Amino acid sequence: MTDSYDVIVLGLGAMGSSTAYELSRRGLRVLGLDQYPPGHTHGSSHGDSRIIRELYYEGTLYVPLLQRAYELWEELERASGASLLRITGGVMLGVPDGHVVQGSRQTAKQLGLAYEDLSAAEIRKRFPAMDPPDNFEGVWDARGGYLRPEAAVAAYLELASRHGARFEIGQPAATWAPDGEGVTVTTGERRYRADRLVLAAGSWITRQVPDLHLPITIERQVLVWFDPASIPADAPDVFAVDRCPVFICEHRLGQSVYGFPRLTTGVKASIFHAGETIPDPDMCRRPADAAETRQLQEYLAVFLPTLRDAPVRATMTCVFTNTADGRFIIDRHPAYPQVIVCSPCSGHGFKFTSAVGEANADLVTGVRPHTDLSPFSLGRFAASAAGRDASRAVSIPAAPQS
Ligand SMILES: Cc1cc2nc3c(=O)[nH]c(=O)nc-3n(C[C@H](O)[C@H](O)[C@H](O)COP(=O)(O)OP(=O)(O)OC[C@H]3O[C@@H](n4cnc5c(N)ncnc54)[C@H](O)[C@@H]3O)c2cc1C
Repeated sequence: MTDSYDVIVLGLGAMGSSTAYELSRRGLRVLGLDQYPPGHTHGSSHGDSRIIRELYYEGTLYVPLLQRAYELWEELERASGASLLRITGGVMLGVPDGHVVQGSRQTAKQLGLAYEDLSAAEIRKRFPAMDPPDNFEGVWDARGGYLRPEAAVAAYLELASRHGARFEIGQPAATWAPDGEGVTVTTGERRYRADRLVLAAGSWITRQVPDLHLPITIERQVLVWFDPASIPADAPDVFAVDRCPVFICEHRLGQSVYGFPRLTTGVKASIFHAGETIPDPDMCRRPADAAETRQLQEYLAVFLPTLRDAPVRATMTCVFTNTADGRFIIDRHPAYPQVIVCSPCSGHGFKFTSAVGEANADLVTGVRPHTDLSPFSLGRFAASAAGRDASRAVSIPAAPQS
């Protein structure tokens, strides 16, 4: 028997869950599929917190989507009653000629967004946890803060199911194939048909569209939670949410670390990129080792001295799905317009989740997208634009043995 839907969303991490919500609230009959339960730790949407910031050093092209995302995060909080976004402000700091400082300032200037330059002395004074070298500079992003990824995915799925979406969890989708103007998708047990398919499979996306030869690399990342003591013990907590903003520090040209204030789980920090490239997301299971934690502490100690020897409370791994230009993929499949290919990561996609769900829903329903999606098109990859073989089914390979 074949179950029929308006849209199938394959993958229910951040992007798929927000897409399922946006589609179902437009009245479409949605089926969401995921191989793992929500909140799982095998993909990219777990780990307690994600930075959001507006003065985007990666370039002004992201800012319209980002500003829409802020609006939709607030709307999601209202609709779900969940607390998902906390504005702490954000400090982008580091070597003065670095991309983090220069790029943040440049984006602010080009778009006329409010910003504040901070000297090392001002950073020390305002954020007592931080003690950067004298030559470091900072840019203050008043809209910086953090999002709660697991809670956001849960909120999307809960609201989507209230709007009638159905979810099948625990079975990997095995194949998808164009079927007239629609698609069929099979899991080990069942076969589904829909008018549209959204592929939101995170690091597994290349398995869904091998014909597009996506120039994607998968990078293992290590997250570490510290338990820094207040110094001295009876002093106010310098890592408290109202004293420590989210931060990204380019401590050496081209090399950054980022982190958060103390949440109930501790102070989380990570080295941005510089992780091990792995051939497949299912090979990311190797836990963080002591050398990786030590290296992070050395980098952090450049401007957060109390983290140098702070006890490690927990570690986790997670995967980045990187494109060569760092930009996202949000586009229709070049051969099958009924299929949307969605992979916004390169380590910075989460903050856009709310707007990406809306963009996918616009592509599915043929509505003009709220913001220009052309920077995220498949056409920028020559091999992908050429990928068209209108008659074949895509068999999604099973996980390799690791
Ligand atoms: C360590 C880390 C830190 C980050 N920090 C930030 C940050 O601070 N700020 C920020 O903006 N962004 C950040 N990001 C990026 C952001 O988290 C990602 O852009 C986002 O989570 C990607 O979501 P996704 O839905 O595309 O992928 P995923 O969350 O991985 O979801 C893909 C889903 O597809 C499912 N799937 C795959 N194949 C199949 C199949 N065959 N059948 C069924 N289901 C399938 C998977 O099980 C998975 O649930 C970070 C990412 C990582 C890893």
